[in-house]
Amino acid sequence: MTPYQLNERARELRELLARYSYDYHVLDQPAVEDAVYDSLFGELKKIEAEHPELITPDSPTQRVGNELLGGFKKVTHSSRMLSLNDVFDRNEVEAWVTRMDKLLPGRRHEYFADIKMDGLACALVYQDGVLTRAVTRGDSFVGEDVTANVRTIKNVPLRLRHEKQYEQFLSGRTEIRGEIVMLKKDFDSLNARRRVIGEPEFANPRNLAAGTIRQLNPKLVAERPLHFRAYDLLRDDPTDIPTNMFAYEAITALGLNRNLEASVFTTVSDVMKFVDTWDKKRNDLPFNTDGLVVKVNDRQQFAQLGVVGKQPRGAVAYKYAAEQATTIVKDIVISIGRTGAATPVAVFNPVVVAGTTVQHASLHNADEIARLDVRIGDTVIIFKAGDIIPQVESVVTELRPKTAEKIDYEQLLHAQYPELEFERSGKDVVYRVKGVTGPILLKRALQHFASKGALDIDTLGEKNVVALVDAGLVKDLADIYTLTKQQLLQLDRFAEISAQKLISAIANKRQPLLERFIFGLGIRHVGAQTAVDLAKKFESINKIKTASIDDFLAIDGIGAVVAESLVAWFADPDNELLLDKFNALNVVSVYEKKSGKLANQFFVITGSLESMSRDEAADKIRALGGTFQTSVAKDTTYLVAGGKVGSSKLKKAESYGVSVINEAQFLNILR
Ligand code: NAD
Repeated sequence: MTPYQLNERARELRELLARYSYDYHVLDQPAVEDAVYDSLFGELKKIEAEHPELITPDSPTQRVGNELLGGFKKVTHSSRMLSLNDVFDRNEVEAWVTRMDKLLPGRRHEYFADIKMDGLACALVYQDGVLTRAVTRGDSFVGEDVTANVRTIKNVPLRLRHEKQYEQFLSGRTEIRGEIVMLKKDFDSLNARRRVIGEPEFANPRNLAAGTIRQLNPKLVAERPLHFRAYDLLRDDPTDIPTNMFAYEAITALGLNRNLEASVFTTVSDVMKFVDTWDKKRNDLPFNTDGLVVKVNDRQQFAQLGVVGKQPRGAVAYKYAAEQATTIVKDIVISIGRTGAATPVAVFNPVVVAGTTVQHASLHNADEIARLDVRIGDTVIIFKAGDIIPQVESVVTELRPKTAEKIDYEQLLHAQYPELEFERSGKDVVYRVKGVTGPILLKRALQHFASKGALDIDTLGEKNVVALVDAGLVKDLADIYTLTKQQLLQLDRFAEISAQKLISAIANKRQPLLERFIFGLGIRHVGAQTAVDLAKKFESINKIKTASIDDFLAIDGIGAVVAESLVAWFADPDNELLLDKFNALNVVSVYEKKSGKLANQFFVITGSLESMSRDEAADKIRALGGTFQTSVAKDTTYLVAGGKVGSSKLKKAESYGVSVINEAQFLNILR
């Protein structure tokens, strides 16, 4: 993005996030899922980290989100009620630990981890053991006095329990901070009752709890079952509470609920085990959670580490992989499947959703594009539930660039496939290539797959291909590996020997060379040389499958058209199934690192040679482990001149320090 575009993007993100934040914190009616908010917030944070000059004082990254609604008395907190920095994986936890190590060199940390409750934060103030005040987090410095409402919460003690070991907390000021939540079962039965009486259902427990606590009528609050879970204990003298674990034990002794699961660990690996355990079990908890909280256990260390902006350095919120995220549509490319159906695919800026990087998603068909009204340049919400393939859920139209044009699907088809005609018949939502049927395409594809330059399968020529497809024995490329001699013998074309020959020829090609396999797949614009380049760069089909458009563009000789065609092919669900099927049938392509005497030597041939064609020369170079290139590049070793070399080529060769040789010298090298 240009500096101007970045500035604009940051401004738009700030405005939209402020709106979402108002809906969420003030109205208690979130407009989008938290994951969507977090994703856009993350994008803004990244822009600001790379361009600090774009940070404005009103940026949502610069403050704790809650706004004060009015109607309640304002109360200043004894110390700020902070929010937490998010981390999403082990690397980020380790980076957090490294930062702490730098600030406290030579000090060992113990880690205190607890489940993070998704509710609203509240501070309970006990004076000489008696509840005197309950205050919301507010803007972190000043909150709202919601004492009357909190008094209706049944598990908030109005007087702290007396226990000998913790007597000191019953004199003077003791503050207990925690989260007010609505338990899932209470939320469900409340909604069930509302369904019966025909009232609209509440959206989620978090916002219902927040909305309830901000009701001006405590009677109404008393009718809604809220629940308090403590996570912090404060005293005027901080040495009263040496560790967070001690605080938790005291909280229990004083008669409040807290998560009994909270534990202390000495290594990051053990923290990660706790993370993994709760990743699996978190849905069984009685309340909603959006992750874990990890802090240094020692409170003195925690205080020494201090605060940056609105987050303490001594703690992080570990967020579990969200099933939704936002990203930008870079392009829409169309793939033609084995039946001739055109499938549009959205190509994204790579983004992590539910733990995996997503860079494209099928848009299915023209109707779906129209329904979503997705355009190139749009910010979209993508989701992925469990292992399911990522999908575009909707467009964040507020972030649409002014230049983004509505997609005219027929025009797009024509632009990407000028040589083909498409049609869609009757109610069919899919455009198909006109005049060719699935079997015709399959025959062409299989013939190519078996051809000399590709897998080179003996006796699987045109006639046999036609016979196999017409008999219904082969419905896709992978099916040839399921053929049996018995099946072939039922066809007129085959007798004992010819059937055996074909079966053996196919069996011989269960481990094709990677470059031949790629070429054989018949991906548009991917010729033999591109296949070689891809194999060399990625060394396995799985790596090619997950490569991004930028990875492809980084290869010499691959331009936008080829890169898009590759992305579209690998994103087509039909092709994914095909690759899975090859795998299931143990057809595994192999990459052989070139050894040979021409290993690491790169050749370009210009003009025509007398002793052989260019294709033959290319084969010879490859057979000796060398690389054949179509144009002079930085890594070219030799430019072979068949006749006179054009001056521009010569100049380029000179500028890269490439040796220019004639045919005789070339033949010498091959010898
Ligand atoms: P945070 O993620 O920064 O977490 C800090 C809070 O976690 C603490 O203040 C405390 O209240 C709470 N907490 C829960 N369990 C805890 C425990 N065991 N130990 C310590 N603290 C615990 O939270 P935040 O600043 O309140 O809000 C940010 C959240 O609000 C984000 O998750 C964001 O998705 C959501 N949000 C959503 C929208 C939307 O439109 N959907 C808008 C704005 C904000």
